[in-house]
Amino acid sequence: MENILEDFDILCVDENLLPIKDKLLNNKRLDFKDAEMIMDTKDLNSLGLLAKYKKLSKDGEKIYFVVNRHINPTNICVIANSCKFCAFGQKKNSPDAYEMSIDKILSLLDEELREIHIVGGLHPDWKFDKYLEIIREVNIAMPSAHIKAFTAVEIEWFSKISGYKVEKVIEKLMNAGVDALPGGGAEIFAPEVRKKICSPKTTGDSWLNIHKAAHKLGLPSNATILYGHLESKYDVIDHLDKLRNLQDQTNGFLAFIPVLFQPYNTRLKHLKPFPFSYDLKVHALARLFLDNFSHIKAYWITLGEKAAQVTFHYGVSDADGTIISEKIIHDAGAKSQIGHTRDFFVNMIKDSGYIPVERDALYNELKIYD
Ligand code: SF4
Repeated sequence: MENILEDFDILCVDENLLPIKDKLLNNKRLDFKDAEMIMDTKDLNSLGLLAKYKKLSKDGEKIYFVVNRHINPTNICVIANSCKFCAFGQKKNSPDAYEMSIDKILSLLDEELREIHIVGGLHPDWKFDKYLEIIREVNIAMPSAHIKAFTAVEIEWFSKISGYKVEKVIEKLMNAGVDALPGGGAEIFAPEVRKKICSPKTTGDSWLNIHKAAHKLGLPSNATILYGHLESKYDVIDHLDKLRNLQDQTNGFLAFIPVLFQPYNTRLKHLKPFPFSYDLKVHALARLFLDNFSHIKAYWITLGEKAAQVTFHYGVSDADGTIISEKIIHDAGAKSQIGHTRDFFVNMIKDSGYIPVERDALYNELKIYD
């Protein structure tokens, strides 16, 4: 690890990064000003070395992945067309609308899976009991797999349709078999940008309060940011700051996942893509600023597999998983595959010079591929 900082001393051409190196060495927390320097730097090599130093100090050469599957029980959503970045949600009468039966959902499971990720639209007719039944049946069919299900947006919806308080909804989901919450729905907390891309969805404060309630009840969760649309660097830093503050209070977040906006089939398709350097900065900033998060994840579905591999050198310690088969982001036009095999991840991580570690949803290590 010392070699990395020696390389940094030789290579660094941006003196604004020097105070960040000093803070890393002295275990001091980065502030807004440091974060701004990271987002402004053009010295990507040196930034990568700092983020890699922080990653190695947390979990060494290990990069985690999971054998998982995404299941989206329905794409029917009462606020379809309101989230401008979403091409997945459909009105009930849309020809592309679908609903999965329990049998269909169970037919998607196989015994290899260690994590089952379940999210979908806010169905206008389904009762909360229907969602509980899905979780119970999946849990009965796959008792050894973790169920990571329902975003804060869905939990707020369940509270509305059931009349239960958010805490009660979460307790009922936990009793049915939910082991963790995914990080979706956070998008960007900055109110003005949030209003432009996904009004009238759950506010940023509500998202944070729902995750806080889950953590207090002992349910861990992930956190995301949707970046690469209308946000400024200040919005990104503010988003991370709010997550860092909540993590200080609860320590309930497992991982942070930067999700690159996919414009192609959405109502924001006129937006120009940001350069790849922006992806690298967001991932490196996340690793350096979120000092209380164990893992930063490369969401290869939106980044693409090759770019995800590069982020391993920018602070990332998790490659997500096999996913088979992703629909939400691909409806928006993602160019990556809809899933990959276990071998793909082992080779991808080894080829990057790291040690692949297969995990479960809670980051228990299942197998180290030395
Ligand atoms: S992002 Fe979620 S809540 Fe928004 S329209 Fe799509 S499915 Fe519905």
